[in-house]
Amino acid sequence: AAETIDGKGIAALVRAEVGVAAQRLTAAGQRPGLTVVLVGEDPASQVYVRNKDRAADRAGFRVETRKLPAQTPQAELLALVAELNADEAVHGILVQLPLPGGLDADAVVRAIDPAKDVDGLHPDNVAALWMGTPGHRPCTPSGCVELLDRTGIDIAGRNAVVIGRSLLVGKPLAALLLARNATVTIAHSRTADLAGLARGADILVAAVGRAELVRGNWIKPGAAVLDVGINRGADGSLVGDVAFDEARERAAAITPVPGGVGPMTIAMLLRNTAAAAARRAGLDAEQVFAEARLIAAER
Ligand code: NAD
Repeated sequence: AAETIDGKGIAALVRAEVGVAAQRLTAAGQRPGLTVVLVGEDPASQVYVRNKDRAADRAGFRVETRKLPAQTPQAELLALVAELNADEAVHGILVQLPLPGGLDADAVVRAIDPAKDVDGLHPDNVAALWMGTPGHRPCTPSGCVELLDRTGIDIAGRNAVVIGRSLLVGKPLAALLLARNATVTIAHSRTADLAGLARGADILVAAVGRAELVRGNWIKPGAAVLDVGINRGADGSLVGDVAFDEARERAAAITPVPGGVGPMTIAMLLRNTAAAAARRAGLDAEQVFAEARLIAAER
């Protein structure tokens, strides 16, 4: 049976490393600062925001959540973004999506300073991703690549099939895998013979939002399988987009749900924020993380 990729453990490791980096940056006068903007009362968003807040706090960041009522006018939200753009103590701005009806999420994301857009959704960052220039990369997709790297799974030259083409997950993940020299196919709801396509994948990613869409006989023997999906099962439990028990009979490595890709998102959000603080301090973020990794490994 497949190796279960321990996303929870790997995310904890990344957060510990970011914590070490945060100490260094604080000493350099740039304590990483994250502001989360939550508009309205969506219960799922409230849980996500609380988790982000707690993780940032534990990593030694300065973190605040700005809560606004669902009826907040667009102009007021844009004014808050402008205020945070100008605030030197804020390195990362995250506007929790989706926004309540009547608000233009696209315009809000465009208003964020791209250097502080730690979700990587501003058009400048989307362009930078596809151009291969520096910029913030979206958190869930970069978490997927981090899982592959830290599990020792090769990417270059291999066939990757990404099921799902959203702006948040599928498309940016395809770009990241392409940048790492995978041969990438993006599949979606209109793809013909999805199962046959999946069977050619050395790296198969499901980011759809349909419980157990991907069956065991879709998996190429020896493949790595990343399950991004989060769905509610009939009994209320969380299930992924992949039929885990079937898939693990054929895969070489697979992420569980929960405890796979999910925990990586916040870890990468913290890393993006710390990277923004490092750049503000005039430091090379990659070097700061490399040093933090060595220090964290000794602890
Ligand atoms: P989305 O609804 O925006 O996109 C879903 C994609 O799946 C679409 O591109 C669509 O073309 C494709 N699709 C739909 N039905 C299909 C089918 N039958 N066959 C093949 N493709 C099909 O969703 P999203 O935001 O990309 O999220 C996808 C899943 O990942 C959701 O379950 C979501 O909850 C989860 N998610 C998890 C994290 C995390 O782990 N932190 C982050 C974001 C999203």
